[in-house]
Amino acid sequence: MQNYEKDWQDYRHRRNVFLLVFLGYVPTDGLVAILSEKLFHTFRPAFVAASLWMAWFVYCGVRASRWRCPRCGNWFFGSWWYSLWPLAWRCVHCGLPKYAKEGQEFKGPGEPRLS
Ligand SMILES: [Zn+2]
Repeated sequence: MQNYEKDWQDYRHRRNVFLLVFLGYVPTDGLVAILSEKLFHTFRPAFVAASLWMAWFVYCGVRASRWRCPRCGNWFFGSWWYSLWPLAWRCVHCGLPKYAKEGQEFKGPGEPRLS
């Protein structure tokens, strides 16, 4: 039997970083815009910060959606041409339930998902 707890912690960390980057965009770039306007009388640093933040946002989204299944090693949420992140509740390749603990299996439609 496998213990997937460290793998789920890694996934939660990636997901939480993505959410923080998402939620922090407007306040951070707004602060940079206010400070750059007061200090330098231009918004150019805010445009640079916004561009870098958006690139970071994309990176974090791709990193979270390409997280590998601890059981089969494939991308948990999809493949190279699609992604169900964050909506998939089990691995799209092997059926391992999201946040499954040791020995838990997906039983199929109509049956309890976690035993
Ligand atoms: Zn899998």
